[in-house]
Amino acid sequence: MSTQSVLPFGAEEKKLPRLIESLAEVCRELPLDEKVLIAPSRFVGHQLIEALVRSGTPWIHLRVESVRSLAHSVAGPAIAEEGLTLLSRAQALALIEQACAETLTSTSYFGELASRPGLHRAIQNTFDELRSAGISPTDLPEAAFGDPRKVLELKKVLAVYEAALERGKFVDRPEVLRRAVKALRESPRTLDSLHLLAGRFELSAAERELVDRISGGRLRTLDEDGPQSWAPNASRAGLFRALGEENEIRELLRRVLAEGLPFDDIEILATDPATYGPIVYELTQEHGVPCTFGDGIPATFTRPGQAALGFLRWLGRDFESEELREIVAGGLLDLTRICPGDPPGPIPAARELREARIGWGRERSLESLDRHVAHRAAEVESARPRSEEDEEDLAARVEWLGERLATAKAVRDLVRRLISIAPEEDGAEVELRAVARSASAFVAGFVRIAGDADAMASSALQGLFGELETLPVTRLPVAQAATRLTDAVRSLHVAADRPRPGRLHLGDYRSGGYSGRSHTFFVGLDSRRHPGSGLQDPVLLDEERRGINATLHPQELAMRGGRPAENVLAWKSCVARVRGEITVSYPCWNLLEAREQFPAASYLDAFRLVSGRSGADYSDLDCSLDAPAGFLTEPSRALDETEWWLSRVQDPAFSGGRGAQVVRAAYPWLEDGFTAETHRESDLFTAWDGWISDPAGLDPRTSDGSTSCSRIQELARCPYSYFLKRVLRIKPPEDAAADPTVWLSALQKGNLLHEVFRRFYADPAGVPLRTRFDRDWERMKEIALEELATWKTKIPPRSKAAFDALREDVLVACRTFVLREEAHCRDVTPKWFEVGFGRSRESTDPPGGPEPVQIPLGLGERFRLSGRIDRVDEESPDAYQVWDYKTGSSWDTADPKRGRGGRRIQDALYAQALEILLARNGRPGRVVKSGYFYPGRRGEGERYAAPLDVPATRQTLTALFDLLRAGAFPHTPTKEDCSICDFGKVCGSPELAADRAKAKLENVSGNPVLEPYRILNPS
Ligand code: SF4
Repeated sequence: MSTQSVLPFGAEEKKLPRLIESLAEVCRELPLDEKVLIAPSRFVGHQLIEALVRSGTPWIHLRVESVRSLAHSVAGPAIAEEGLTLLSRAQALALIEQACAETLTSTSYFGELASRPGLHRAIQNTFDELRSAGISPTDLPEAAFGDPRKVLELKKVLAVYEAALERGKFVDRPEVLRRAVKALRESPRTLDSLHLLAGRFELSAAERELVDRISGGRLRTLDEDGPQSWAPNASRAGLFRALGEENEIRELLRRVLAEGLPFDDIEILATDPATYGPIVYELTQEHGVPCTFGDGIPATFTRPGQAALGFLRWLGRDFESEELREIVAGGLLDLTRICPGDPPGPIPAARELREARIGWGRERSLESLDRHVAHRAAEVESARPRSEEDEEDLAARVEWLGERLATAKAVRDLVRRLISIAPEEDGAEVELRAVARSASAFVAGFVRIAGDADAMASSALQGLFGELETLPVTRLPVAQAATRLTDAVRSLHVAADRPRPGRLHLGDYRSGGYSGRSHTFFVGLDSRRHPGSGLQDPVLLDEERRGINATLHPQELAMRGGRPAENVLAWKSCVARVRGEITVSYPCWNLLEAREQFPAASYLDAFRLVSGRSGADYSDLDCSLDAPAGFLTEPSRALDETEWWLSRVQDPAFSGGRGAQVVRAAYPWLEDGFTAETHRESDLFTAWDGWISDPAGLDPRTSDGSTSCSRIQELARCPYSYFLKRVLRIKPPEDAAADPTVWLSALQKGNLLHEVFRRFYADPAGVPLRTRFDRDWERMKEIALEELATWKTKIPPRSKAAFDALREDVLVACRTFVLREEAHCRDVTPKWFEVGFGRSRESTDPPGGPEPVQIPLGLGERFRLSGRIDRVDEESPDAYQVWDYKTGSSWDTADPKRGRGGRRIQDALYAQALEILLARNGRPGRVVKSGYFYPGRRGEGERYAAPLDVPATRQTLTALFDLLRAGAFPHTPTKEDCSICDFGKVCGSPELAADRAKAKLENVSGNPVLEPYRILNPS
């Protein structure tokens, strides 16, 4: 869709840029001479020639070169003859990383930075500069450095890097330049070609020498519009500001679309392409606006890039299934490669992966998936009609189970194939190139391609990994190898291009403005971005650069402190060379940090020229600018449906000021959300707060089943949480991924310790029941180590450190247990252990049994309770103590307030349950004490037993069950209750949920249904 006119410049400004004029002059003056145009890059050179064409100047014998391509043309044949390979930037960086790893330690000058990718890149840039300036490691003058360690280390790193180049028969870019200059020194050129330097762009000393020598004395620097001539253009600029960078680009697109400007007449030049590139990419993709990007698109914006990052994380974190699940769920994989006919959807596949509960580990992944597939197959085979199902329902359920089985098999196949391409470790280390090979095979064989950008990224990634595969053998831990490749992927940009017909173009102002397009938007002119800080190069400070320059003159190294001034000149030069309309903008608000941003001094300068007020200051500027462009605009300028709706909602003329209602009517889910929030915000307790209309079967006093202490305590802690978990049966995603430094979950650790304590007294029968530390500690330790070994087989720890930490915790708890038991058993005799009751529990010997106990509540009411008492001690022949082992800290139980409202009721209920069990077994007895024992490291061996108060317990239970009977499940008014809840994401912030709950509880007359909960939680 090229709509560009032959003469692209605006009506008022048809003068050609000086650079094109001077190029045209040479072409007219010397039409038949061979002419070589040396441009900052080939992209720029081609743009200049295109502009020349559009200016109507005829030309022949003119070709474009960059300094790099010239160096290659000179040094290339010899490099090929010697069998050397030219390294890419990524390959060179990998060698620098290796050199740093071999040379720097945590005590070296660069300290902890030594392993950071940022330092490696900075070292690479500095070495490029040094080598381009012809400085070898041995040249670095020690006197130029304040800290002698620094120069020694830099020399070492550079020497190791150069040795690696030599060993691998590699050359890098600075070496190509060095060789080219050397060749030209030895054999000066006497060419007839006229070399034309496209303006005064930045050249290093070596590059300058190359240009001088290759031109053989026939070099002409073309005139250009220098920074001093920026004023006429800038005085015609349009200025605006926007609320954040995204709105800045939105406003730009609104202007383009509203004015019907041809896309290929627009060039966007950013001060910070790294920030603006992704924004422009996303918005142009979203709105179907074709666009080229001078710096390309980050590969991580494409499916292959994201998938490659996920794959590398998966490898680097020891096959942690959550990493793989994310890329499967994100639809980044092409599952037709596994199931060509009928691939599973990404979400069902991700669900099976999660439900296989793999966690991590190569072997564990395959074993867990085999187990999971067997489980799914058993589900299909054992499907029987349920009481409420007819045949059709059963068939539908079996079909659904069959689909799940097929998906589980596909996922197993996928993981098998991915593991088959994963690098083999040798002593926990791998070759970097083996990881690169795996990543390349992954991208080639498994990643979904949906569009040109994906296809380009896929081939660029394979190219990148392929380059890294060719590097010499480097062995390093898998995680480190994955990190290095991840960094390389993050640095990769694809589809860099020059302005093309029919497309917008985004570029950097330092290398832009050559396209000859008639509308130029300069974005990002805020003071934070432009002219940038004068931050020094961390590897070579300006002072050190000065010292090197003074010693090694004339090979000049640039000063970094002068960057801001250079950027201002570069921006003014760019403004001077563009033609047509100019718009300059800046983001005046940081949306992420919610703070103001200020215009750059260059923006103020432009304003002074536009307004003709040379003395204008920032407050004049602020007063003169229109209101910032934001998310709201006029309906006719809306970019998309959302903007249109937003603009209409604000319009009082729209639907008689009822815009919000109209929007909600158009989007029923928004209406539902609005209704829910309105009700939750009110002080009335409603269905939106957890009040259900059909609570049948929930009240344990009238239901057939039994309940447990943990359920009752959950209900007391937060009825709404109970509702989500026990009534709606919502489960938070089970995440087998874990902190690599932690082996077992708190629950698993508790189970392990319970089994150790049980065995200590009950296994084998007849062991001494009155504990003595000197006699029993070794036996206890033996049991603990056996149980640890059993769990270790069941769930392999992720690291020795994780196992050792938990082993230490377990042994501390066991030691505390034996020590405290010695004192405790002077007054009591341990009697029964793990006394289960109720069908949901394993039956045990008497006094336990498979039947639940019936707990009376008075007035003829009762309910059925199941449970398991950890320990019963005999104080005297008919007096018993009940103890529950707690492996955490005692703060929760010991705080009397925390027990309020039924949050701690197990001690009281187990006391009653044991008396019922004893009576049922024909040996009546009394429970004189019931409490909790905390042998764990955080519990410090405390015991806590509150007085038993049966009437108070009954009153609490009655209030809780009354809530169930009413179907009322309010949120807790105590925000501390949320700290151990899985549903935080459902409720938003604990403070908000608690404040709303309090307001509803305080509305006594409006919410009589909450009366039971009010009794339990007095304000
Ligand atoms: S987050 Fe808090 S209010 Fe929400 S369900 Fe959990 S405990 Fe209740």
